[in-house]
Amino acid sequence: MSETWCVIDCGKVPSDSGCMLKIKAPASQVEDLLDAAVDHAVGKHGHERTPELREQIRGMVEYKEHPLAVAQ
Ligand SMILES: [Zn+2]
Repeated sequence: MSETWCVIDCGKVPSDSGCMLKIKAPASQVEDLLDAAVDHAVGKHGHERTPELREQIRGMVEYKEHPLAVAQ
């Protein structure tokens, strides 16, 4: 039984820090994923914690069929 996973890949966002962080969660926990990603963007990249930031990050979420596909 497999569940769809969602992934945010910070390495795909242009940034000066060269951050390669990947965060993943089951699709049912996409809001938790966004919480973690917003914390990361605010804490490590100096973004402002706004609803717009959350929606921007939501647009970066990739959906993967299987957690093993996440590493690729
Ligand atoms: Zn990052």
